Amino acid sequence: MLNQIFNKIDYGQELSKKDLACLLALENQGDLDVLYDKADKVRQKYVGDEVHLRGLIEFSNYCRKNCNYCGIRRGNSKIKRYRMAIEEILDTVSVAEELGYRTVVLQSGEDMSYTVDKLAELIKRIKQQVDVAITLSIGERPREEYERLYEAGADRFLLRFETSSRELYRWLHPDSSYDERMEILTWLKEIGYQVGSGVMIGLPGQTVEGLAQDILKFKELDLDMVGVGPYICHEETPLAGHASGNVEMTFKVIALTRIVIPYAHIPATTALATLRPADGREKALQLGANVVMPNVTPAKYRALYELYPSKVCVQEEAAQCHGCMYGRIYSLGRPISQDYGHSFRRISQ
Ligand code: SF4
Repeated sequence: MLNQIFNKIDYGQELSKKDLACLLALENQGDLDVLYDKADKVRQKYVGDEVHLRGLIEFSNYCRKNCNYCGIRRGNSKIKRYRMAIEEILDTVSVAEELGYRTVVLQSGEDMSYTVDKLAELIKRIKQQVDVAITLSIGERPREEYERLYEAGADRFLLRFETSSRELYRWLHPDSSYDERMEILTWLKEIGYQVGSGVMIGLPGQTVEGLAQDILKFKELDLDMVGVGPYICHEETPLAGHASGNVEMTFKVIALTRIVIPYAHIPATTALATLRPADGREKALQLGANVVMPNVTPAKYRALYELYPSKVCVQEEAAQCHGCMYGRIYSLGRPISQDYGHSFRRISQ
């Protein structure tokens, strides 16, 4: 059975939900090494050796939502909130450009005090002053706002769905609807954004069948970017006390995502590095990932953007993160991309 599935991968045949669940259940290290080696070869064939760096700017930790796993949910009164001023965001984008990043990711909670007018103006000014691609990760908004922001110059949008199980989604997101999230992902694609989404690994109640379904959902949504990171328990949330996600399972989902949607950009996430600081990101880059997102948020804000606790790289200034990241990537013998790192899927069409 396993050899038949491995043969399907070698011949580029579609994997069924049952095939994916079987691979996700693998525990024998020899079998896992075979799987990871195949995923790494697919990565090399479809997206090459270059690693793409995206400078991450977490510009506000205010959020109107109350997702049950998230440390910056509105119900967490213990966290100190911050908002970066527009000029401060612009300065930080310039720092990212000076460090050589050709993409900035502007990320926040769902903070509606940044109106669409303010954000559109910010995007226009970035595009006039700095030579970078812009990814937005600002949550759910009306369709007209996504259209305005795209017209202003935003290139990409990240909106994770976290799980394709409706029941689990409803339980985790007391004030969001699964159908609405899926509809928004469709809008973003229709508008013209390069679209990213993703899931968390190790959520309470998650199964290998559910994760297999998540991977097939990535394909169905025709995503340009897929983020896969372990769930890390935050004690100031309703999920306090739940075990954090499993690093090996995260590796398996990354490897299978690479195999199922070979052209996707897949980051080696900070959450992985948090659970496995020595080599979590490096290992991910060796089994399918091709993107890293160094944090360029001013150090005084970083610790406050606490989606989960003990996040790595919260003390370092942007230049230190940059030096560390370059060293880690070069140690793998992988070159760092000098271009914007737009969607491969679109380039290949
Ligand atoms: S996951 Fe996103 S939308 Fe949900 S509470 Fe956290 S920041 Fe807000």
